[in-house]
Amino acid sequence: MSFPPSVEPLPDVERVLVVVAHPDDVDFGAAGTVARWVDEGLDVAYLIVTRGDAGGFDDTPRDRMPVLREAEQRAAAKAVGVEQVDFLDGYRDGTLTPSLDLRRDITRAIRRYRPDRILTSSPIRRWDRIAGPGHPDHLAVGEATTCAIYPDARNPFAFPSCCARKGCSRGWSARSGTRAVRTPTTPST
Ligand SMILES: [Zn+2]
Repeated sequence: MSFPPSVEPLPDVERVLVVVAHPDDVDFGAAGTVARWVDEGLDVAYLIVTRGDAGGFDDTPRDRMPVLREAEQRAAAKAVGVEQVDFLDGYRDGTLTPSLDLRRDITRAIRRYRPDRILTSSPIRRWDRIAGPGHPDHLAVGEATTCAIYPDARNPFAFPSCCARKGCSRGWSARSGTRAVRTPTTPST
């Protein structure tokens, strides 16, 4: 792993955007951290890329799974004080790649939310823990989100068509000195 050691939190963070692949990723990985941020007064929003349609281990009808998991994610978010939960459409669980489409959709969300902090999965494969952090969807979302943070969201000429949408603020820029910080996580699938 090549993450830097943790740094002191920025003092003036107000908005946080969490970007993950599946319902339950943030809950297994960082719900305690999110709960603390909400308690501290931060405005936290979730962007979930899929509805987890390939998940589950029981006889739940497959067409029920995305509905069930979306509802579970919204309830879990509410339990830690997060009211805004958005899902992307058009992405199937288990098939994610850090595509230009995914970068565009995450860029759009960043320009709309204008977060001071973004929490996402790591794009770096860990050979010591293939399961969980090494799920291809987690790696893909980590990579696409990192690309959206820099350079896409800050570049007004990157994905300019998304800015026709109301509330989209083209040219959002990561702060100078932006750094990746590793947070303790428990892997999910
Ligand atoms: Zn997952």
